[in-house]
Amino acid sequence: MSKSILEYSVADLEHLFVSYKQPKFRAKQVYEWLHKHRVTSYDQMTNIPKALRDLLEADFPLGKPAIVDRQVSSDGSRKYVLRYSDGSLVETVGLPSFDKNEQIKRLTVCFSTQVGCAMECAFCATGKEGFTRNLTALEMVDQINVVETDFDCRVTNVVAMGQGEPFLNYDELMKALRILNSPDSFNIGARHITISTCGIFSGIEKLSDEPEQFTLAISLHAATQDLRNGLMPRVSNQPLRQLKKVLGDYIRKTNRRVTFEYLLIKDINDQEEDLSALVSFCKNILCHVNLLPMNSIDGSDLQPSNQETCNHWLSVLEKNGIEATMRKSRGSDIAGACGQLKNKQAQ
Ligand code: SF4
Repeated sequence: MSKSILEYSVADLEHLFVSYKQPKFRAKQVYEWLHKHRVTSYDQMTNIPKALRDLLEADFPLGKPAIVDRQVSSDGSRKYVLRYSDGSLVETVGLPSFDKNEQIKRLTVCFSTQVGCAMECAFCATGKEGFTRNLTALEMVDQINVVETDFDCRVTNVVAMGQGEPFLNYDELMKALRILNSPDSFNIGARHITISTCGIFSGIEKLSDEPEQFTLAISLHAATQDLRNGLMPRVSNQPLRQLKKVLGDYIRKTNRRVTFEYLLIKDINDQEEDLSALVSFCKNILCHVNLLPMNSIDGSDLQPSNQETCNHWLSVLEKNGIEATMRKSRGSDIAGACGQLKNKQAQ
């Protein structure tokens, strides 16, 4: 994969411009257009000569994605279907949190790392469409740019939890996260950048060697092997017992807490024995559990657990000394589950 122009430092650009026989001072100007002004076309670089803009366009096309659908939920979240230049579609979600004056105090973007997904999770609309291709770092960053522009508000948090398994596109993901984290660019603090994975061991191990304090979230959804195999068939080769060991090593090495995501699905993974299995899985792991009633998806019989069950799970986890939060399901009025809006677009 060729390097994205956004990965170039000023010194890298100076080097490049020497090879273009262009003055070095243009490097800082181009860098600022890209990172400070976040332009999506070289034509917006008004103080850069056309000849240099043409060279850059030929070698590093910026190609902004088109918004082909945009839905606004009554809770303020916005879901977008974006189309890249090759026709690929992905979903991106902007999730604002408001202060008491109804001003946005936090804007989180849930972005996609792949077009489609190979993981086939039973509760996910994207899993039903299969894998098409990996996204480049630039294509990931473009999603954050789209949301920031649309809300006209700085993005404060990002989570790689849209379409795709982030650790199956590790290198491009890391490039994107570093751009988002860079003080010269989006300047989003590493702890406000979350990677949500099904639990790919190799990715967890590599992440433990990275210097940044990115947050690791594991889509757990079941703490017994047979149930998890049914819900997440493609990680049956990454068994829970070993996952616990890999996470133990990760925590020892990084001193960082891990988040477990657990979608509560009525009569499937919300029984008393499932709760006991989760409590026992969390023992001796520095973790936080995010419970979330699932969003219903078209063509699936799976339904969210009821409120009483959700409250019971939260209280049992807390009684067992496990930090837990009940997340509100957001955007259910705009095809809230991952992949649903895009699938509607593709119909
Ligand atoms: S939940 Fe995530 S990993 Fe699983 S199929 Fe959907 S997009 Fe892929």
